[in-house]
Amino acid sequence: MTIARILFPLPLPEPFDYIVPDHLSVETGSYVIAPLGTQKRIGVVVDCQDLQPDRKLKALLEVLPTPPMGRSMRQFIDFCARYTVSPPGLVLSMALRSSQGLLPSPMRTVYHTSDRLPDRMTAARRAVLETVAQHPGLGASALAKLATVSAGVIKSLAESGVLAATNEPVDRPFPAPDPNRPGIVLTPEQATAADQLRHHIAAEDFKPVLLDGVTGSGKTEVYFEAIAAIIKQDETAQILVLLPEIALTEAVLNRFEKRFGARPAAWHSGLSQPQRRRTWREVAHGRARIVAGARSALFLPYANLRLIIVDEEHDGSFKQEDGVTYHARDMAVMRAKLEQAMIILASATPALETVVNADTGRYHRIALAARPGLAQLPDVELVDLKTETPAKGEWLSPVLKSALLETFSRGEQSLLFMNRRGYAPLVICKACGERLKSPTTESWLTEHRYSGRLVCHLTGWSMPKPSHCPHCAARDSLMGVGPGVERIAEEVRILMPTARIEIFSSDTTLNADDSRNLIDRMANNEIDILIGTQMAAKGHNFPNLTMVGVVDADSGLQGGDLRAGERTYQLLSQVAGRAGRAQRPGRALIQTYQIDNPAMVALVQGDRDGFLDIEKDVRESLDLPPYGRMAALIMCAPDLTMADTFSDIIGKAAPHGEQITVYGPAPAPIGVLRGRHRRRFLAISKKNVDLSAYMAKWAGLIKVPNSVRISIDIDPYSFL
Ligand code: ADP
Repeated sequence: MTIARILFPLPLPEPFDYIVPDHLSVETGSYVIAPLGTQKRIGVVVDCQDLQPDRKLKALLEVLPTPPMGRSMRQFIDFCARYTVSPPGLVLSMALRSSQGLLPSPMRTVYHTSDRLPDRMTAARRAVLETVAQHPGLGASALAKLATVSAGVIKSLAESGVLAATNEPVDRPFPAPDPNRPGIVLTPEQATAADQLRHHIAAEDFKPVLLDGVTGSGKTEVYFEAIAAIIKQDETAQILVLLPEIALTEAVLNRFEKRFGARPAAWHSGLSQPQRRRTWREVAHGRARIVAGARSALFLPYANLRLIIVDEEHDGSFKQEDGVTYHARDMAVMRAKLEQAMIILASATPALETVVNADTGRYHRIALAARPGLAQLPDVELVDLKTETPAKGEWLSPVLKSALLETFSRGEQSLLFMNRRGYAPLVICKACGERLKSPTTESWLTEHRYSGRLVCHLTGWSMPKPSHCPHCAARDSLMGVGPGVERIAEEVRILMPTARIEIFSSDTTLNADDSRNLIDRMANNEIDILIGTQMAAKGHNFPNLTMVGVVDADSGLQGGDLRAGERTYQLLSQVAGRAGRAQRPGRALIQTYQIDNPAMVALVQGDRDGFLDIEKDVRESLDLPPYGRMAALIMCAPDLTMADTFSDIIGKAAPHGEQITVYGPAPAPIGVLRGRHRRRFLAISKKNVDLSAYMAKWAGLIKVPNSVRISIDIDPYSFL
């Protein structure tokens, strides 16, 4: 009797055994439907054996018509589960994001002309026949709409055979990329980089490659050459390009289309169900050849994944913080290894982890030091806010104001960067001093003037701005403190009443269309000054943008996070890199109170490697990543007493570990989130320690009621 072990996409501790009925043909990796409790569930066969069961087992119900999940994908799920200390079923659920993708595409009826004519011609019928002649292959509703007739007209023409009806899949295949289309003419430096990549491909050298090139040096053009080489080598090869979600814009997809004559399949959180289903299925069948996606695209069931590119590999959005907490860059390196595929990590400001891997020879390094043609890197200057103080109640220093005015008078564009949404990040009552907080979360409310609301940026909770202080009931006493993008826009409008000013943040651009529209208008020179959060910082190419002003460079340095300096450097050099992309020289002005901070000094001197050397020394001396390992355990309890009691129990349960130090419990910086009280533990170890195994063992020893939740974060990036 054949017994199949089935893993379900659920947080269950292990797979379950089922009998395979004789009429079903199952192999390891098959996607199946099986009874689970009172329901029917989709699962994946992780093992198949002929044996006599020692207990009564249920039978499988159905095998789904999709290619079985490959061995390397199954190994990847196991690895990811073990590394992140998550149930394998939870990791599998990330790979099964579209159950409809497991089935063939739904069909639809479309219409063409036939050689029959209607026995009686009417105006409506004529309209339909003319429309079909011009637009063959439309469905009934689209055809009726275009011909401005009722659906009944189409129906009767089809029934009488005047319209020929055919069935076709609703989900269209993705067009195949053409690697032989000519690319841009590469500079000698770019051509050498592309040659090196082609050399690694030809030699089947799968050591990860760091493509380390300044912003605008043509990293994308260079990795396009690697994509072309892979597709030429293997006509079934699939390529995954991982991008920060924020960068998955039309502009990027258009660039792929221009180069390969076919748009890549996109995968991100904004897809509709039908788009998701289509991409999932086409990837599983190996027909979607290039996928450009956010981090979750790593878990798609590629049939023949040959190349992964992680663009902007240092970007924080590759770390998933909910559910399975994984870092897509790190997991991509593992996936490529299991697939025996090539992986390229591209960045102008690579993560320290990646730099150290390149330094020690675990990764190849290919460098691009120059921007092509005349394009220059911008001049970066610091504005010392201690001496260049903005006027009272303002945030822009006199130097920055003059730079804005000069740039405007030359007909060029400026970008002001302020990584805070809304009008003011804090609201205080002038009468009683109360700082307004969210009712269930320990975070200050941000004032948004456009919407007239006070918003908690952690949970999204909001309320209309009250006319009275909720604490002392004083009238009109609430005052916004500190700047957000809306307040900066207000200041610029007063300074430059005739300039065209726009805000670029997730509040003003709610969807992909809004943001595309804004980017197009900026690129077409219809905006003089763009005031943006980090949405505006990344990836865009604005040829007439020559001045970038950073309003508050210090905001990211607060909080004592181990990567604060590194992240500030990355973000600010990214922002500064927006200036002077075309043939015009650019300038970046950075307002700071910390002109001696190594990150600021490095920005001015363009000395990234000097900055990284300082960072490396500090981290190495403290055994911090990448020289040591870290893992966090976060506990959430419904009330304070339980938080105290159980954090004590959890702390005592921590097993003794060689070369492992456990810190905590400490109240989390966000001590209360959505009404739940949070405590944090941090385990730090030497590099060679299997910290995942240690955390799994610890979690196994913890006995707490269901209302107390424990989550584990291996290699944490957020310490909130
Ligand atoms: P990066 O990915 O390193 O930021 P991109 O590949 O986006 O750089 O290139 C920046 C801009 O320069 C793009 O508009 C690109 O088309 C252009 N570019 C890059 N290389 C060349 C080249 N050799 N000739 C002309 N334009 C180029």
